[in-house]
Amino acid sequence: MQGLRISFGCLPPECERLRAEVRAFLAEHMADVPVARRVRNWAGSDPAFTRAMAARGWIGMTWPKRYGGHERSSLERYVVLEEMLAAGAPVGAHWVADRQSGPLLMRFSPEVLAPRYVPRIARGEAFFCIGMSEPDAGSDLAAIRTKAVRRGDGWVINGRKVWTSRAHRAHYMIVLVRTGAPSDNRHAGLSQLLLDLQTPGITVRPIVNQLGDHDFNEVTFDDVVVPHDHLIGAEGDGWKQVGAELAFERSGPERYLSSTQLLLEMLNAADADDPRHAVALGRVVAQYATLRQMSLGVAGMLARGENPALPAALVKDQGALVEQGMPDLAHALFGGAIEPDSPFEQAMRYTTLAAPSFSLRGGTREILRGIIARGLDLR
Ligand SMILES: Cc1cc2nc3c(=O)[nH]c(=O)nc-3n(C[C@H](O)[C@H](O)[C@H](O)COP(=O)(O)OP(=O)(O)OC[C@H]3O[C@@H](n4cnc5c(N)ncnc54)[C@H](O)[C@@H]3O)c2cc1C
Repeated sequence: MQGLRISFGCLPPECERLRAEVRAFLAEHMADVPVARRVRNWAGSDPAFTRAMAARGWIGMTWPKRYGGHERSSLERYVVLEEMLAAGAPVGAHWVADRQSGPLLMRFSPEVLAPRYVPRIARGEAFFCIGMSEPDAGSDLAAIRTKAVRRGDGWVINGRKVWTSRAHRAHYMIVLVRTGAPSDNRHAGLSQLLLDLQTPGITVRPIVNQLGDHDFNEVTFDDVVVPHDHLIGAEGDGWKQVGAELAFERSGPERYLSSTQLLLEMLNAADADDPRHAVALGRVVAQYATLRQMSLGVAGMLARGENPALPAALVKDQGALVEQGMPDLAHALFGGAIEPDSPFEQAMRYTTLAAPSFSLRGGTREILRGIIARGLDLR
């Protein structure tokens, strides 16, 4: 057997120099990490790894120095992200804060909350989770019922969130709440608050997923008091702000690089003289290359301050399709030849069970296609 090798087009020289640094860092920190852990990819969490990345200046890379950022380019940030994801590095502890909480705070609370919290994110000390979905409000986020009422000592929150990834490991949640009375405009009266998860009245209960892992949670709020100044942006602007946050959430390379370990196992096991392998894996690699170009385009839009909602939905939808096809492809090409409990089989098992979530988390396939249709003026 002779493995297949892949390489994509190079980025500017400063990016390729950085890539070499990141690979050296990964060789040092990931050498002994087995495939069974690498497959978890950005679902894997390791605060020590996060702090080591922060020490290299790889969290908050594009942020202004006044917030503890490093003022590097979006392409440089992209290189770090894609190398981490390709290696299956345990970046989950800081992922949400680096991707969306930090940018949200800098944009909507630049003078009050961002100076307090964002430098701690960049130092790898403050981990965030996303409090949007509720038992009867997932795709239809405007249906949320968790309520915050303004009182003398702060906002008082009551309600319940579900599917909150890593709430049991995070320090803070950015929570979407209803602060206004019901009205004909379903999008009115929503706001976002920054919540310290140690505040009395918060209960975090595990929801074990079909892999048997504890990743997401149910979080309940019973008279939880949040200081007045922890309102993010303006009261009632929550719907607009969540839209901006979701564009960050849907736009990154993690939306097509979650199953890299399985692809790498297939490439390692492939027989370069077998045309079936060359054609099928060549097609996947071409799809990766295309998704990468599209994803780089989205990174460029974000860097220019443009709204990438439509292209980000496209990348996420197409990325999920490619990745969800990976276990079937591995089965078709290598089915009987995969050794039980080998790294290949471990990658196969994990990806098979994780893949259905790829077209749910961060917005379902149907919702993304609705956004694409609207962007094309079809609805
Ligand atoms: C791994 C994972 C991690 C997650 N992490 C978080 C997190 O950290 N924080 C958080 O807040 N949420 C999180 N979620 C929740 C996720 O955002 C929701 O599952 C998702 O938005 C869908 O909501 P729902 O589960 O309520 O499904 P529903 O909205 O009830 O949808 C059920 C089905 O109906 C379809 N559907 C719904 N509305 C329409 C429509 N208008 N048109 C066509 N079809 C429609 C959907 O596409 C879907 O197939 C996570 C989910 C997963 C799987």
